[in-house]
Amino acid sequence: MTGLLPYGRQSVTDDDVAAVVAALRSDWLTTGPQVTAFEADLAGWTGGAGVAAVSNGTAALHVAYAAAGVGPGDEVIVPPMTFVATASSAVALGAQVVFADVEPETFTLDPAAVSAATTGRTRVVAAVDYAGHPADYDALRAAGGDTLLLADAAHSIGARYRGRPVGSLADLTTFSFFPTKNLTTAEGGAVAALDGELLTRARRFRNIGLVRERDEQRWPDEGGWHQEVHEFGLNYRLPDVLCALGRSQLRRLDDFLARRARLVARYDAALADLPGVLTPGRRAWAEPAWHLYPIRVLDGRRREVYDRMRAAGIGVQVNYIPAHWHPAFADLGYRRGSCPVAEAFYAEQLSLPLFPDLSDADQDRVVDALAAALRGAPARPAAA
Ligand SMILES: *Cc1c(COP(=O)(O)O)cnc(C)c1O
Repeated sequence: MTGLLPYGRQSVTDDDVAAVVAALRSDWLTTGPQVTAFEADLAGWTGGAGVAAVSNGTAALHVAYAAAGVGPGDEVIVPPMTFVATASSAVALGAQVVFADVEPETFTLDPAAVSAATTGRTRVVAAVDYAGHPADYDALRAAGGDTLLLADAAHSIGARYRGRPVGSLADLTTFSFFPTKNLTTAEGGAVAALDGELLTRARRFRNIGLVRERDEQRWPDEGGWHQEVHEFGLNYRLPDVLCALGRSQLRRLDDFLARRARLVARYDAALADLPGVLTPGRRAWAEPAWHLYPIRVLDGRRREVYDRMRAAGIGVQVNYIPAHWHPAFADLGYRRGSCPVAEAFYAEQLSLPLFPDLSDADQDRVVDALAAALRGAPARPAAA
């Protein structure tokens, strides 16, 4: 590979291309049989929880919060160590986001912080399976009481918690199929719901809020064409063409995850004795679906190491700036220092390249470039 080695990228085969072409040539471009089939295939990964495909992972969060009834006056508890959409999609519904800190080993939502943050107005507790490592769902369930639990599983489709699959752990689970994630539909996402009523609400919000079931309509005798809106929604549908890609990708998800796990084991071994960095932690009860390989660069050297590795052609990334540091949250009064575990982690965090088609040789190049950056040696440019 020439140029910058990316931190993540899709793996697309001729089979994927053929699946998309076949869908393009069919009678359906948008809502059609591939959508239903993709949702059924996804339910094979969620332990049977019903699934609604949507247009991206941010839409999935918006749909899930809407299905949960989130609105003005409600509070939604979110960890700051996530992509901003976990929090901003709740703000879009008029809710107040309450940031609760993360655990020091996995950087997933800390159940003790959730207990402290829960009030009578808490509508949803939203956990994030950071890097593909599941949050501690049983403890979060206990900490949140009767509050709905949401899993932002944008990183973690295919992971297991105490033997149970992601998708079956929270009342609502959201996925993203962006190209860097564990499988892709270009843009795409999904919502899984344990409860049939939540799933129906999610499906309706995804489709403008339209109610088509005659026995649920207020004006059922209007005529055969009739559909009506009871609660406002948006158009967040995922087209048939992209669902065909998703189905084809899903057939290789086991292989993708196995390759990611092998690369993670190689990184763990190569970096174990490298001074100045810490490798990612993992709890005994977790079977992660590694999306990121987040190391910690010690001694205040993260920025220097990032710059040196970028100069050496290694596309390292930082995931993530604490969500409450975004100016839009700062302008609402959220303050730095409120989530010290997440903020200290951010200061050290660096994601090394991790994706199924990353070769062992390119991974070795990443390890060499990291060691060189830590030695402070001049950066060696990438082979052209
Ligand atoms: C990628 C991601 C999202 C948003 O998904 P998009 O498909 O990019 O909209 C939400 N949450 C997390 C944790 C993510 O990594």
